[in-house]
Amino acid sequence: MEPSMPSLSDLVVERVGFGIFVLDRDLNVLMWNRFMQDHSGVAPADVIGRCVFERFPELPRAWLARKVESVFQLGSFAFSSWEQRPWLFRFDHDRPITGGVDYMQQDCTFMPLVQGREVIAVCVTISDVTHVSVMQREREDAVAKLREYADRDGLTGIANRRYFEARLADEFARWQRYGGELSVLLFDLDHFKKINDEFGHVTGDTVLRTMAQRVAQVVRKQDVFGRFGGEEFALLLPCTPLGDALRVAEKIRHTISDAPVEVEGVLVSVTASVGAAAARPGATGSEAMINEADAALYSAKREGRNRSVARGEAMP
Ligand code: GH3
Ligand code: MG
Ligand code: MG
Repeated sequence: MEPSMPSLSDLVVERVGFGIFVLDRDLNVLMWNRFMQDHSGVAPADVIGRCVFERFPELPRAWLARKVESVFQLGSFAFSSWEQRPWLFRFDHDRPITGGVDYMQQDCTFMPLVQGREVIAVCVTISDVTHVSVMQREREDAVAKLREYADRDGLTGIANRRYFEARLADEFARWQRYGGELSVLLFDLDHFKKINDEFGHVTGDTVLRTMAQRVAQVVRKQDVFGRFGGEEFALLLPCTPLGDALRVAEKIRHTISDAPVEVEGVLVSVTASVGAAAARPGATGSEAMINEADAALYSAKREGRNRSVARGEAMP
């Protein structure tokens, strides 16, 4: 007798690039295609006629049983995306190095096989979507990086004004709602134009960068330190009353002025003036705080620079 030729549909099911297998209501395997064999290492003869959990005890038993049973009961398709459940079968993927993606990521479809009006079996398909998950991961990493760059000042690497103002608005809203203390410092390097004129713009840039890094090292984690413009910086101090803010102002002033910056063998001395302000009852917006700090900074400049002032009161 001649060996029977496989039908066209048998050939397709064998050769198609995704997993196809069929389960009965007791989760016995009725069919198992080549993809399933190649990736699991289990041949059809070793799994057909047996409960799928016998050969694959690591499968999510309750989940799979519930999924299959629901298809039997409702007679409609069910799905599972890699985003909810990264994989049903633990198959290796064929990508060389995929940062963080351990096994083949899988989308699954559960299709009712209907005869007359009765669901006689459930056909499960498994698609390899590792490439999608890798791309998504890369995209998420890129977006996170971009988001971080969008918040940073290009020259100094500290927060930029946009980010600072957003955080200021948040903290101010929190203060309005819950009370407590909130202060802000504005500080501006003294006679910076002279430094540029004397040493050049590139040296000026290095001085700005160095000063920002120095100050960034002495501020607390909860504080927000940002570049407000040119050679002007701002420090937001949550949970800090004005008296304490003035002490922080003095610390920062000393951090800037106590040691000159060395740029290619040249020592550049810099001082800063600081204006401090605190949120006060009745304040309607965070701009008022900034305006007060700005006025205090202006007083510090007028009174001779290299000093800290809070709402017109100078620190000795
Ligand atoms: P004051 O003590 O009154 O603040 O004097 P000042 O010279 O610092 O003040 P002014 O605002 O007149 O000048 C600020 C200078 O800071 C002018 C500008 O050339 C310089 N500057 C602003 N941004 C940058 C920058 O990104 N890099 C460099 N190198 N210089 C900058
Ligand atoms: Mg200045
Ligand atoms: Mg200035």
